[in-house]
Amino acid sequence: MKRTTGQDRSITSKWRPATQAVRGGTARSEWGETSEALFLTSGYSYDKASDAAARFAGEQQGMTYSRLQNPTVEMLEKRIALMEGAESCRTMATGMAAMTAVLLCQLSQGDHMVAGRAAFGSCRWLTDTLLPRFGIETTIVDGSDTDQWKDAIRPNTKLFFFETPANPTLDIVDLEAVCGIAKEAGLLSVVDNAFATPLLQRPMDFGADIVAYSATKMMDGQGRVLAGAVVGKEEFIEKTLLSFTRNTGPTLSPFNAWVVLKGLETLDLRIRRQSENALKVASFLDRRVATLYPGLASHPQHNLAMRQMDAGGTILAINVDGGRTQAHGLLDALELIDISNNIGDSRSLMTHPASTTHAGLSAETRAAMGVGEGMLRLNVGLEDPQDVIEDLDQALVAVGL
Ligand SMILES: *Cc1c(COP(=O)(O)O)cnc(C)c1O
Repeated sequence: MKRTTGQDRSITSKWRPATQAVRGGTARSEWGETSEALFLTSGYSYDKASDAAARFAGEQQGMTYSRLQNPTVEMLEKRIALMEGAESCRTMATGMAAMTAVLLCQLSQGDHMVAGRAAFGSCRWLTDTLLPRFGIETTIVDGSDTDQWKDAIRPNTKLFFFETPANPTLDIVDLEAVCGIAKEAGLLSVVDNAFATPLLQRPMDFGADIVAYSATKMMDGQGRVLAGAVVGKEEFIEKTLLSFTRNTGPTLSPFNAWVVLKGLETLDLRIRRQSENALKVASFLDRRVATLYPGLASHPQHNLAMRQMDAGGTILAINVDGGRTQAHGLLDALELIDISNNIGDSRSLMTHPASTTHAGLSAETRAAMGVGEGMLRLNVGLEDPQDVIEDLDQALVAVGL
């Protein structure tokens, strides 16, 4: 494949993240197409048997099989790495494939890790249910309490794993402090950055070693496909992670990679507008119900959030006093906002985590995480924020709030 002169790495690596989101990693074919080509192929052919042998021996550049390499997928990997300012990226079929691979590729029986308690439900299932089956123990800490991270370190601790902002409680972890503790102890810090994306927060700038994504969320951003990604140092991605994923196969489909490439072109626009809309909606809600949004001064960690993020993001949560009955009643009264457990979509979506995304956890685990029966999570989309506010207003009135 040919690269245009503008794709010289010494030039492209200077571009800012919003430019990378539109152009980073583009590799043009002999036809010189402006947008990224979609290579729907599972395999590749060779001119000679000796070429196949040389490629398998790693002596000749080129692709062999789409579980291992694909031109469209590679463009996405280069783009995400450039946006993140990272050496390397590997994409995965889903965000959970990324989280599972990033942990299993480096942890072995007898190892220990420390994880933030507020986390995506399936991430908690990994730490609480899957990893113990393989003799890997996790200490769960209140991620917002920096001392707890330090105190949880044992001689066999290998890594820290957390989200910030966390799903759905919007807890913030102090990236600089916690990644600093990891570094001092010789551990790796792994950050799930799905809520913010590299356009609002670049954890590596604060010392994180590895950043993992559900690209299903803001990166695709229009509710079309599932995808995941892991970024980090070349050594980690190309050796530790790649040997795991090449052989276990959580590969991203080229079609989905192509959709995410297209989504990234508008990521900067979308995430900034959706964050602006979310701030307007959160300011309205804050006057009526208990509201959690990192961009609001009422958030207990607002100052920290604004030190490490460019804007508050697209997601907020509210707590109603009337528990599940009132929360479900509010959802049922919505006319514009969809009842949907997805996030990062350009449509406004609202869900009741305790009965959906976090229903798989025990009531005690949910309570310890701060996911109560009266909690509702809202992803604010690209609609006119006044329409979203009016819909919430009438739904709040409908349940007596
Ligand atoms: C959605 C999500 C995941 C899982 O991603 P999928 O693409 O749905 O597999 C992991 N972490 C966070 C923070 C998420 O929001």
